[in-house]
Amino acid sequence: MSSESVTAAQGKPVGGTVNPLGTSEQSLDAQNQAHNRGDGGSAAPSGAHHDETAEIAAYTRALTKVYGSGDAEVVALDHVDVDFARARFTAVMGPSGSGKSTLMHCVAGLDSPTSGEVVIGDTNIATLKDSKLTELRRDRIGFVFQSFNLIPTLTALENIELPMSIAGRKPDQEWLDHVIDIVGLRSRLKHKPSQLSGGQQQRVACARALVGKPDIIFADEPTGNLDSAASAEILGFLASSVSDLGQTIVMVTHDPTAAAYADRALFLADGRIVSDMDDPDRDKVLERMVGLNSSPGSADAVATPTVQA
Ligand code: ADP
Ligand code: MG
Repeated sequence: MSSESVTAAQGKPVGGTVNPLGTSEQSLDAQNQAHNRGDGGSAAPSGAHHDETAEIAAYTRALTKVYGSGDAEVVALDHVDVDFARARFTAVMGPSGSGKSTLMHCVAGLDSPTSGEVVIGDTNIATLKDSKLTELRRDRIGFVFQSFNLIPTLTALENIELPMSIAGRKPDQEWLDHVIDIVGLRSRLKHKPSQLSGGQQQRVACARALVGKPDIIFADEPTGNLDSAASAEILGFLASSVSDLGQTIVMVTHDPTAAAYADRALFLADGRIVSDMDDPDRDKVLERMVGLNSSPGSADAVATPTVQA
């Protein structure tokens, strides 16, 4: 099954519509409402599974990360094998402390594994020297963080262009224009981050991540600091950059509503992948989280899942 038909069957908030990228706030709102109504959600074929032939954007093998030693030793990742297919939107979920951020940091080359393999495209990042790793992160990986991480003294446009300026690359002007329109920032380009709402700041961060056409974008709790309307905007935007632009996104979240925008949800517990769900919806995700929460050894799991009506 093509990803397009999966998207259509699921009635995802974006994709397959006339103006699928939602350049206006209004269309994003409409998408959000459609999503909240759960339109078409029950039509998703439950038997849909990963396409074995799909191109892989990144993968890990026996990825292990141990912090500390002796009594203080923490196995944050325990022999994790995972493939992230190209042009798919994967949510990584799990209780606090289950290893979500560590997984993201190791796959993105922000932290080095204790053992095991991490491959981005066809590059095994363990073999890279620091300078090459920095280059790979800058040129082939996009990041979106919970706290936006914009440079306060730069305008929105300068922030969007920053990674490319640092790399000494000139952004393709047509693509830059397209990305700016996609995130609806045309009228805000000269504003500094402090003059923008949280949602607008995160849209700048999304544009900054997209403009270099990275192999993969990692988003760690991208809606953690946003209200539900701004969250829906950002999530709709991330989902459409996957379905319409073919971007690959891996998003860490503890929010079942956010995970429902993804094509796949992985669940971590105690540093291992314990569940792999296609076409997640909020109810399926909640059910799985409750299951994880009641398993031994994860007592503090998912104490307060952020559930939006
Ligand atoms: P999550 O993002 O799912 O909340 P993390 O990946 O942040 O989980 O953490 C996984 C485990 O590793 C936790 O037990 C955490 O306390 C531990 N951990 C994370 N970072 C460090 C660190 N720098 N030093 C020691 N332990 C750490
Ligand atoms: Mg975390």
